[in-house]
Amino acid sequence: MKLLAFAEQREGKFKKSAFEVVRAAKEIAERTGAELLTIVIGHKIDGSVNELGAFGATRVIIAEDERLRYYSTTAYSRIVSEIAQKEQVTVLFFPASQMGKDLAPRVAAKLSGGLAADCTALRIQNGEIIATRPVYAGKALIEVKVNSQVKIFTLRPNVFTAAAKSDATVKAERIPSNLTDIDFTAKVTGVKIAEGRPDVTEANVVVSGGRGMKGPEHFHLIEKLADALGGAVGASRAVVDAGWRPHDEQVGQTGKTVSPTLYIACGISGAIQHVAGMSSSKYIVAINKDKDAPIFQLADYGIVGDVFEILPSLTEEFIKTIAK
Ligand SMILES: Cc1cc2nc3c(=O)[nH]c(=O)nc-3n(C[C@H](O)[C@H](O)[C@H](O)COP(=O)(O)OP(=O)(O)OC[C@H]3O[C@@H](n4cnc5c(N)ncnc54)[C@H](O)[C@@H]3O)c2cc1C
Repeated sequence: MKLLAFAEQREGKFKKSAFEVVRAAKEIAERTGAELLTIVIGHKIDGSVNELGAFGATRVIIAEDERLRYYSTTAYSRIVSEIAQKEQVTVLFFPASQMGKDLAPRVAAKLSGGLAADCTALRIQNGEIIATRPVYAGKALIEVKVNSQVKIFTLRPNVFTAAAKSDATVKAERIPSNLTDIDFTAKVTGVKIAEGRPDVTEANVVVSGGRGMKGPEHFHLIEKLADALGGAVGASRAVVDAGWRPHDEQVGQTGKTVSPTLYIACGISGAIQHVAGMSSSKYIVAINKDKDAPIFQLADYGIVGDVFEILPSLTEEFIKTIAK
């Protein structure tokens, strides 16, 4: 059996999900005795490829061309499918990122493969890969086995570990970039980098506000703390549903899954659907005036008190300490 991991990168820099996908695929390869192949597509990506060794990649195929700098549905799907066919790969792993969600189904169609999308766990049973995926907006989890000969899995970002696990040496192989007959009509013509705070899924620190913030006009307190720590602003669904914050800040089962080093939950009760999106954070700090709020069962540090008193002084202390 041969497995393929798609390592997503932008501008020569790997996304965290690339490490998650490579490591998860490596673990499946080890448990099944399969061979792992990793593919990287883009432009100017040479040097960074060695980073993948820490997550278990040994053989890495690089498809590099100036026209591959930005994601192209047609070109990327064609390159991945052709390599998979040539190498007789039967299992492919992608991140369930914006790019992976577009790419994986197209590759599945080209290879007549079955696809299990947005998986949150993978295990082996009788030599077969069993994937867990949430259904009905996260209300239930199902286990699926893909029966087709080619099997494709997209992995939900920030759920699988991205911790380094090996010191494997990467053997990089460049494939000839013969793109002459590839249709580039569907292509990204430019990218505008969003200014300001990082996205919740990428940030090292996330400061989230819930209904306890009492209204959108008080979120400047959350923003100030996030900015002091160079972090992102997150929100509970209650707050997003109320229109206080945009949907892309929602953390939880029907929002984004985050796993920062530090997660600060302010005026958030800790409902199971919220916890599902942030429980893998390394350190969790909760500020809540109700000492029995469920969030405290999960928190490493809990502050029982009023967010309107605690947030300003906490922010001031952080600013002073960081400035030292
Ligand atoms: C299918 C489904 C999917 C869902 N998906 C999500 C999801 O993705 N993300 C999500 O977050 N929720 C989700 N929910 C909703 C979830 O069940 C909760 O309703 C929601 O998380 C509650 O948000 P909250 O903690 O901000 O509000 P509340 O539960 O109302 O909690 C507010 C907290 O603020 C505290 N508080 C009040 N005033 C202060 C103050 N002055 N100082 C300090 N603390 C204060 C209160 O003690 C309370 O604990 C989902 C629900 C369903 C059914």
